[in-house]
Amino acid sequence: MKVFMEIRCPDGRDGGRKDAFPATHEEIHPTGMLSVVASLTPWSDHNQSPRNMYQCQMAKQTMAFSLQALCNRADQKLYHLKTPQSPIVRTSAYKKYCIDEYPTGTNAIVAVLSYTGYDMEDAMILNKSSVDRGMFHGLIYQTETIDLSDQKSRSDRSRKFFRRSNINKNSSIDSDGLPYVGQTIKPNEELYSIHNEVTNESRSIKHKGSEPVIVDYVAIDGKKLLQKASIRFRHPRNPIIGDKFSSRHGQKGVCSQLWPDVDMPFSGVTGMRPDLIINPHAFPSRMTIAMLLESVAAKGGSLHGKYVDATPFANSKNVNEETPPQSKTLVDELGEMLNVKGFNYHGTEVMYSGVYGTELTCEIFMGPVYYQRLRHMVSDKYQVRSTGTIDQITHQPIKGRKRGGGIRFGEMERDSMLAHGAAYLLHDRLHTCSDYHIADVCSICGSILTTSFVKPERRVGRAVKGLPPIRASKKVICHACQTSRGMETVAMPYVFKYLAAELAAMNIKLTLQLNNAA
Ligand SMILES: [Zn+2]
Repeated sequence: MKVFMEIRCPDGRDGGRKDAFPATHEEIHPTGMLSVVASLTPWSDHNQSPRNMYQCQMAKQTMAFSLQALCNRADQKLYHLKTPQSPIVRTSAYKKYCIDEYPTGTNAIVAVLSYTGYDMEDAMILNKSSVDRGMFHGLIYQTETIDLSDQKSRSDRSRKFFRRSNINKNSSIDSDGLPYVGQTIKPNEELYSIHNEVTNESRSIKHKGSEPVIVDYVAIDGKKLLQKASIRFRHPRNPIIGDKFSSRHGQKGVCSQLWPDVDMPFSGVTGMRPDLIINPHAFPSRMTIAMLLESVAAKGGSLHGKYVDATPFANSKNVNEETPPQSKTLVDELGEMLNVKGFNYHGTEVMYSGVYGTELTCEIFMGPVYYQRLRHMVSDKYQVRSTGTIDQITHQPIKGRKRGGGIRFGEMERDSMLAHGAAYLLHDRLHTCSDYHIADVCSICGSILTTSFVKPERRVGRAVKGLPPIRASKKVICHACQTSRGMETVAMPYVFKYLAAELAAMNIKLTLQLNNAA
């Protein structure tokens, strides 16, 4: 006998096929097809499917409460949400997988409202007062492990261990050479101290990195000699403008403003102010109906003081079962919950402008939605540069955020500027602010590689006391022509000179023809 497994259609029927099931087994529940992450999205059967996929990606990027044994851990990098909450609207899988032990977000009061322009294009306005009360507060834990027995080199056989220098008594380091727990260490401040047994010298190591850190925990290893230590640092990461947030329906957004309570709109019924304002344009094209359902359900749930089950496919009525013909739909059920408590059936509320105190012309859809804080934060990503380190070969700015490098102005950006006719700006980006260089060119032979400075032999004048020494003007000659007669200066990108040198290495001569015709 062959064994066949049949998927279970949510309505309990044959899924449109007329023939009898060839199956010997059937799936217990339609949610059996969902992964752990996917099964946590409330009413995912009401969402457009790509949104559920986005949520599955984003659930892995949340800054959540990922561990219970934080105090004993030494992770390289760990994101941690300080004030997590249990979602009001949850699926059956939420309880099954014990996600309450590891919650991933906060129930935020969300108003769907176009308030000023600061919620356009997936930006969102956060209530600063809510943030001040602890909403979305988070941390990054980072652990640095130092093993001094590893650092022994063949030439240096001396033993090293942690110890504070005897000379520097009032340093910020403890007597064992390690930092105090709870101490804030700013960049370039002493972090720990190493003692060399042979030379009897102490050396302090400074904190690298560009932001201050808090010492969270210091763990030591080794009973006789203190040679191995793990220092766990704590970086506070409270919400600021530019941080990323998302609901459980693939609706991500970036905080654009942190507004105090008084500037937020307030409800005419309850006087409540939202924690978060998102733009209504986030819904028509994305069709995340489950997010609207979640908002209404969470509102009803919080009014009745109970959690609302949002398991997908659970509300589809099974025709095989004896159900009354006029059974309530999900929307009716949720709307009724609000109606009973005197709220609008559709979850909307009359609201007043926080700035003018006038009534808003439309009723506003407002309710709690479980929001996740995502681990992409501006303070870890922003890049700035005015001037700084340059590449030795090309004389162009280096790349890399950590090293204070620039952001590449590539071909596509160049094309865009050309299309706009912004020639001066293009010249500024690609030349003046990059590898601007004044090269000496010999107009006789046209070479830019054969020129060099010559030291003036005789003194130009006698030095006068109290005045800077008189310098002779620099003299440049062409080695090929053995004269300085044809020397001219030309502004060009430094890489052009490098190109000429590379071509010369391939036995190709590059010459410039200079004229003043312009
Ligand atoms: Zn020449």
